This record gives sequence, structure tokens and C-alpha cells, in this order.
Amino acid sequence: MSISANLAQIKERIRAAAEKADRDPASVSLVAVSKTRPAADIVAAFQAGQTVFGENYIQELVPKLAEVREPVQWHVIGHLQSNKVKYFAGQVAMIHSVDRISLAQEIDRQWGKLGRVCDVLIQVNISGEATKSGTTETGAMQLVRVCALLPNIRVKGLMTMPPFFDAPEAARPYFAELRRLSEAVAAERIAGVEMSELSMGMSGDFEAAIQEGATLVRIGTAIFGER
Ligand SMILES: *Cc1c(COP(=O)(O)O)cnc(C)c1O
Repeated sequence: MSISANLAQIKERIRAAAEKADRDPASVSLVAVSKTRPAADIVAAFQAGQTVFGENYIQELVPKLAEVREPVQWHVIGHLQSNKVKYFAGQVAMIHSVDRISLAQEIDRQWGKLGRVCDVLIQVNISGEATKSGTTETGAMQLVRVCALLPNIRVKGLMTMPPFFDAPEAARPYFAELRRLSEAVAAERIAGVEMSELSMGMSGDFEAAIQEGATLVRIGTAIFGER
């Protein structure tokens, strides 16, 4: 199927999942994960109405920032090395993968040079798998407190990647746990911190994530095909 047909189908599934959970479908935003895909695919998706694109690799993101002339919004969703931040400072709308203080400080420094504020999510490794990046749940609370003191970063919520399961329902407890953590952080009422976003759910499990409160679903394969 074409990118535009896939997008239409995904949007319909997002709508149905939201309604099943008694949620407003407009409260769930689609981040189209375009890693490994050429700029032409991003333009095709944009022409079909998709505006937000997620990239994992900075060496891929940077050329695309120049190649894609359409007014898309970029989100960084992958593990990020601090020394790469300067290559895209000011050019992305959100970073989903802040998992340590040194990275938060570097984002703050680079956005600060531009006199701007970067929206970020704290990535939490709920499952504790060694192969996944992300802070622990206790670490997340501490990291949010540190970020709250950085003037050029604004914490908007949390992000997680559950372990890979064949059955989407198996990921659900991890999504529920991220939501509980988000509520616990919100209850601390830390000045300048919003817990309005929950970035969770991918091609195989986004419906379960929406049931558990996802506001940003990150979907690649189901839009662009197998990588
Ligand atoms: C690749 C990736 C996705 C999208 O995964 P699909 O299964 O292709 O939908 C989402 N989030 C992150 C962090 C990713 O690396």
C-alpha cells in the first residue's frame, strides 16, 4: 500500500483505539518514524497531511533537515550522544530521549546560545533491560528536578520503549507503569515541569499504549513499510 493509504489506515486505528478508551482522538498525536527512509518518503507523507516526523540517528537527521523543504516538525526519538546536539540545535521541536543529566545540560547550553527553549521528554527504561537506554524510575524523578532548573529546557512528559513482544497486550503493563510514574511526577508539582505528554506505542502495540494514555505514538513500519 502507499504511504498515504497506510497513514489513513493508521489514523483510523488511532481514532478507534482512542474512542474505545473514552479518549478524544485529538489527544493522540502521530509521530511518523522516518528513520532509514529517504527524504522523498517524508515529503510524500507530508503531502498526505503528516507533519511530525521522528528520527533516531543524527547523521541521518542532519541531511534531511536540509533536504526536506516542507515545513515539517522534527522529533529526535533515539539514543543521543551529547556531542551531537550542536548539529541540530534549534531545528527540532522535541527530544524524546533525555536520559541523563549531562545530556540535559548540553541541550540547555545549545538552545541557550540561540535564546530558545527545547521541549524534552525523559526516557524511562521501565523494563530495566540492559539493551535499552533510559533512566530508572527513581532516576527519572531526579532528572526531572535537575531539568526544571535548566532555563532552556522544558520537560513536557515521559517516553518509554517496552521490551519487544509478539503479542501487543504484553507491552501494556509497561505503558501503565509509565503513566503511573508520570502521575507521580505531576503530583510533585515541580515548577516549570508539565507532565502533559506520554510518548509510547509503536507499529505493533500503539493501540495498547493509547488505552493506557499515550499522547504521542511513534510509528514507522506501519506507515513506510519494513526497514
Ligand atoms: C524505530 C522506532 C520506532 C518505530 O518503530 P516501528 O515498529 O517501525 O513502528 C519508535 N520509537 C523508537 C524509539 C524507534 O527507534
